Amino acid sequence: MNNDFLIADLTDEEKNRISSHIYIDLFTECWNWTGALSGRGYGRIKFRRRMEMTHRVLFAWKHGPIPRGIRSDIPILDHICNNRRCCNPDHLRLVLQKENILKGNNRAAINARKTSCPKGHPLVQGSKQRYCPICRREDARKHNIKHPPTKEQRRRAVERVREWRKTHSRHVGQP
Ligand SMILES: [Zn+2]
Ligand SMILES: [Zn+2]
Repeated sequence: MNNDFLIADLTDEEKNRISSHIYIDLFTECWNWTGALSGRGYGRIKFRRRMEMTHRVLFAWKHGPIPRGIRSDIPILDHICNNRRCCNPDHLRLVLQKENILKGNNRAAINARKTSCPKGHPLVQGSKQRYCPICRREDARKHNIKHPPTKEQRRRAVERVREWRKTHSRHVGQP
């Protein structure tokens, strides 16, 4: 029996409901969940009669199935940005164990280093270039203290969510 967590499509109602609880941080590109959080700080949502983690829903939808179960040979979903509230599917990856990816000299480790920032964090593909979401969050933390987001930046964030909704409905809409 295939036990993977798989979402073939989201309905318009689901897309609207999910995107209305996302606040995109323009600096880090994290999609911060503004709805309910689990005790460990992950976004939670009632989805198809079950409680699910928001980041798992969006990853399964955009990038494909997530294996279920806890065993050393079953990959788990890892937040590249270390921000548990974030549900940007591009800030997530399936890994066996975080440590195994960046340490050692096997091919996966060498490839991982090629795509990491000077501090060794994995990079993700942004809208323009690859970047390190962990270092960006650090920068943002310092930056935000002195410069809280302007009205204009907030407006653009709202617009990006709207655009995201449009783009994704095109992707998953009827052919
Ligand atoms: Zn993120
Ligand atoms: Zn970094």
